[in-house]
Amino acid sequence: MNRELFARKLSELPVYIYDFFDPRELEFSERIRWICQTECPKYGTTWACPPGVGTVPECREKCLSYSQCLLISSIAEVEDISDIDETLATRPSHEELTEQVAALLRDQGEQPYILSTQACAICGRCAILDGQPCRHPEKMHPCVESHGINVVPILERLGLEFQFGCNVVTWISLLFF
Ligand code: SF4
Repeated sequence: MNRELFARKLSELPVYIYDFFDPRELEFSERIRWICQTECPKYGTTWACPPGVGTVPECREKCLSYSQCLLISSIAEVEDISDIDETLATRPSHEELTEQVAALLRDQGEQPYILSTQACAICGRCAILDGQPCRHPEKMHPCVESHGINVVPILERLGLEFQFGCNVVTWISLLFF
């Protein structure tokens, strides 16, 4: 991979921060999975969420089958971060950005495995609810938390800032390659 060329192309996108690291540095935790299970209304409703993504050890094995990980982040300012509709309205831009970064990796001959934000919303009704396989596995990106990943330790270790004030939304994606 031509890192210099990649970094130049990446600088043309609205990526706020990014860094590369070894996937083995990630912290996988059953506690994060427990939060999905007990607090997220999307649990079990899409293939991008647990338990459809597999167990935490299976997710870990999948992530560690890649030698590198690229973390990207974008931010968006909102009027009121407690307004969930307003906050979620900033998500599609980050998803689009994640696809653009993935395209840059593909241009370099990589086939990234992508974890992104929240549950998949590509189809009106997810196929998992009808016991069918995912209709768009190539476009569907499970959320980071679905794999039991606690992203805070790696952000801290890399020295990447991720809190910018009370009304700034920080979105994060991980691209394994
Ligand atoms: S692409 Fe469709 S079938 Fe696949 S996870 Fe998303 S909503 Fe479900």
